[in-house]
Amino acid sequence: MDPLATDFVHIGSILAGFHNNKAVKVRGWVHRSRTSGGLAFIVVRDSTGVLQCAVKKDAAGDKGFEDATSAFVESTIMLEGIVKEDKRAPGGFELAVEKVQLIGKGEPFPIAKDQSVEFLLDTRHLWLRSQRLTSIMKSRYLIMKYLREFFDSEGFWELAPPMITGAACEGGSTLFEMDYFGQKAYLTQSSQLYAEVFTTALEKVYVLAPSFRAEPSRTVRHLCEYWHLEPEMAFYDQKMNMELQEKMLVHVAQRMATNHADLLQSLGRDPDKLRKIKGPFKRMTYSDAVELAISRGANIKMGQDIGADEEALLTKDEDKPVFVTNFPKDIKAFYMREDPGNPGTVLNADVLAPEAHGEIIGGSERIWEYDELMARIAEQHLNPKDYYWYIDLRKYGPFPHSGFGLGIERLVKWMLGLDHIRDAIPFPRTINRLYP
Ligand code: ATP
Ligand code: MN
Repeated sequence: MDPLATDFVHIGSILAGFHNNKAVKVRGWVHRSRTSGGLAFIVVRDSTGVLQCAVKKDAAGDKGFEDATSAFVESTIMLEGIVKEDKRAPGGFELAVEKVQLIGKGEPFPIAKDQSVEFLLDTRHLWLRSQRLTSIMKSRYLIMKYLREFFDSEGFWELAPPMITGAACEGGSTLFEMDYFGQKAYLTQSSQLYAEVFTTALEKVYVLAPSFRAEPSRTVRHLCEYWHLEPEMAFYDQKMNMELQEKMLVHVAQRMATNHADLLQSLGRDPDKLRKIKGPFKRMTYSDAVELAISRGANIKMGQDIGADEEALLTKDEDKPVFVTNFPKDIKAFYMREDPGNPGTVLNADVLAPEAHGEIIGGSERIWEYDELMARIAEQHLNPKDYYWYIDLRKYGPFPHSGFGLGIERLVKWMLGLDHIRDAIPFPRTINRLYP
């Protein structure tokens, strides 16, 4: 058998019943195996599923049986045989093997059962082929696909901002600094300011790119490198902005629940949790949220930022996301517009995901008038020189606009019901992990 031949079939199509009683060839990796006497069961995995293959010494020959029984977990293998429906086999089908041949035997696989979290992170490059991480990465892809599908259908353009920047976007505390030919430069913390530039030509735009933050503490929801979806819309106020976010989250949740219930179930996630995600979501102000959190035992004072503990108290009994609006303006970024109807607060909202997952989106209406922006830049002791190009947007053809930032891994963590954000990205970057 030739491993590069084009007539191999995928296990998924066997499990879907397309090849019953037919001769097929499969190739993949040994998931597990056991032998008793002249019969070996090799469970093989490819990118579409796992299939039990029964190898009889009589049928496969001595060399074939030797290949099958000497294979390690994760050895690469090719098998040819007849597909049989069999209720006892995982997936309901079994391959009655006639030919078997190793492609690459390799060495014994270092990951066995019950390994520590640290060991699995050290061997992440090998652990990524596990059933669980494979299902998570498929789900992550699908969630991103449905996000793009949504923005496409809403008439948005996707653009590419720089990842290396000269000025901090928001606050300097979590910046990764680098030497740029003798000048100080930074890895971007957010592409929002560039997304705002894009609106002046294309009106409705989004950026889907990494953001980098030197997060100093270990939490279950912070990465140092995460994927950030940042839509920005010309002629949108904050109300329209929130309605768009709601519609987007409903779209993705419904697509996942309807089209991928099996995938969700394989991860232990009840698809009904996502099927329930329908608008409208609850809206509460920052001050109501703080009072509610305090009444539930939170240790927070009015005026402080709402943190993970408060967010958990606010959302643990919710089954839909919640908007928290009107944060005090001095704890928020300089570009958020003050609410004329509620001075001292800004026209912003964080979206808190239910079941204690907490913040997944931060968004706001942006300051679009020159004087207002200059006043806020002065108030927050920023250097207008660093932002000359951003300020220019308020000089040449200014217009009301709004936008938001969504953390992809936070969304995946919530939608799949994961305990920790690190499993929502293939190679998590955290304070003490840079390899593999
Ligand atoms: P938090 O208070 O949780 O640190 P933030 O206020 O710093 O969040 P923003 O600056 O508003 O977050 O960023 C927008 C979105 O990016 C957040 O709502 C979140 O989904 C995501 N995000 C922010 N920091 C991280 C991080 N370190 N890892 C993963 N996602 C993040
Ligand atoms: Mn943060």
